[in-house]
Amino acid sequence: MKSKTSKIGIVFAMIAITFTTKCANEDEADATSEIVIPNIVKTDSQLRDEAYRADPIYGEIKNLEDYWLAFKTIGETQYGYDFGDQEVKIFTDLTIANSDSDRDDAAGIAYGSCEEGVINIAINADYWAEYSFNRKLILMWHELGHDVLNAAHIEGERAIMNTPLPDEYDLNIFKKEEADLFNGTDLVFFDCDDPYFN
Ligand SMILES: [Zn+2]
Repeated sequence: MKSKTSKIGIVFAMIAITFTTKCANEDEADATSEIVIPNIVKTDSQLRDEAYRADPIYGEIKNLEDYWLAFKTIGETQYGYDFGDQEVKIFTDLTIANSDSDRDDAAGIAYGSCEEGVINIAINADYWAEYSFNRKLILMWHELGHDVLNAAHIEGERAIMNTPLPDEYDLNIFKKEEADLFNGTDLVFFDCDDPYFN
């Protein structure tokens, strides 16, 4: 009985050696196989967003209210505005806007225009989820243009207050359009004495 047990023991040991050898052979084969480098190609939109994210002011934007804080910082430090205290309500929910028209397809609605100290902006959640960072900036600057600067739509050029909205801008073009927005270049403003706003 004793000798039989040790024979079985030897057989197991041999199987174990066989498996070990086989595994080692496979590892060797892996080591000599071709190294595959993932082919990462960034889209123009992603490359554009990286440039915006590298900007010291835009790069700080994390949440919805940060868009207002960035807009306020730029307006006050670079263009001489004093926006004062504002009660800021920005939601990615179009249904909160008391709109008098069918605006299901709107990317955003500003409904605090001509109201002092109040920012009321409703953003289309579906569009927001799809938009690149720089397109979100264009949309927010457009809505804040309506709400805070009381700027109306203009047509026929690729300005921030244009409708339809420009799709995307390279950073240097955005900064030029942003300057035109804050400087009021070519803008048309709401008549806040109009009963519509009162
Ligand atoms: Zn608009």
